[in-house]
Amino acid sequence: MIVTNKDLSEFNSLQIAVNAKYYIECKTDSDIGEAFRFIKKNKIKFLILGEGTNVVFTKPYVGLIIKNLFKKEKKIYKNKVKISSGYNWDRFVTFCIKNSLYGLENLSGIPGTVGAGPIQNIGAYGEEISDYIEHIEVFNFKTGNVEILNNMNCNFGYRDSLFKKNKHLFIKNIFFKLKNKFIANNSYQDLKVYRFKKASDLRKSILKIRNKKLENYMTRPNVGSFFKNPLIKKKDLKILISKEADLKFYKHDSLIKISAAWLIERCNLKGMRFNKARVSNKHSLVLINEDKSPNSILKLKNKVKTIVSNKYNIRLEEEPTII
Ligand SMILES: Cc1cc2nc3c(=O)[nH]c(=O)nc-3n(C[C@H](O)[C@H](O)[C@H](O)COP(=O)(O)OP(=O)(O)OC[C@H]3O[C@@H](n4cnc5c(N)ncnc54)[C@H](O)[C@@H]3O)c2cc1C
Repeated sequence: MIVTNKDLSEFNSLQIAVNAKYYIECKTDSDIGEAFRFIKKNKIKFLILGEGTNVVFTKPYVGLIIKNLFKKEKKIYKNKVKISSGYNWDRFVTFCIKNSLYGLENLSGIPGTVGAGPIQNIGAYGEEISDYIEHIEVFNFKTGNVEILNNMNCNFGYRDSLFKKNKHLFIKNIFFKLKNKFIANNSYQDLKVYRFKKASDLRKSILKIRNKKLENYMTRPNVGSFFKNPLIKKKDLKILISKEADLKFYKHDSLIKISAAWLIERCNLKGMRFNKARVSNKHSLVLINEDKSPNSILKLKNKVKTIVSNKYNIRLEEEPTII
């Protein structure tokens, strides 16, 4: 089951061509067990990979890539759903709508697996996955045990969770708690003009907006937003506004969330090219890779960070996992 020197270019949406020393596809509990024993025996590092739409491979991977294809569970219990992590996220959203279970429709069209959703607490159009997770079943690759983490234990935050720092936890199954009644969340600017009676209509509008605003990663390899929106303290906002009166920002708990796209555009970086990578003309948070090597995109993202930092003294943080 474990293969060697596997080319990963088909398994990451930037289409970077790096090899993994070892590679296994995990469809069953016994595959997970095999991966566990192999890691312990050979004392090697490992990485769980979903659909590879939020990872940046920077060099050959000298450990075991565990490709998640685990699809054991898909069960509805009244307004709750237990779903295995290897299912495709967007197909799961459609499944929920078809079964009159609501809440996830604003997260329509996000690429990737169900199991990767909690890692960076995926969010879009005023919703985050963490609002609908009851608990998560993980396989602990340090101990070999299956553990249950309640929502509170997952330390969900803005594009953040406990899983980002605990890469030995393989999300196996997720228990979602959804709504039986559809109440549209059209708080996002582009959706405010509509009155949605059906979740399927809201989904259609979201897909239309995403299609217009974002780049298709199949034809223009990308990982969605490359940078998080920076969070700053209220006192620092005053200084920024004194320089930039039309700064785009939002309240975020006790902090202020600044639009990273706005900062990048103000630095005239939209459309900027560096060798075989460029900042998208459609959306300035999206970096497009046109190379099999990671060099261009890594240099481009460093250039963007440096220019924004020099102008605004704000450090942009990468959203995808850099490997
Ligand atoms: C065009 C485009 C648009 C996007 N739009 C959005 C958006 O609107 N909102 C948003 O939040 N994100 C967005 N993303 C980012 C991406 O879709 C999400 O982060 C998604 O959840 C990644 O899923 P994946 O299966 O591809 O994960 P991968 O890229 O395979 O993995 C991402 C990280 O999760 C870890 N991981 C994956 N599966 C598991 C598991 N089962 N257990 C433990 N760790 C795991 C990996 O080790 C890695 O660190 C977008 C990406 C693209 C390309």
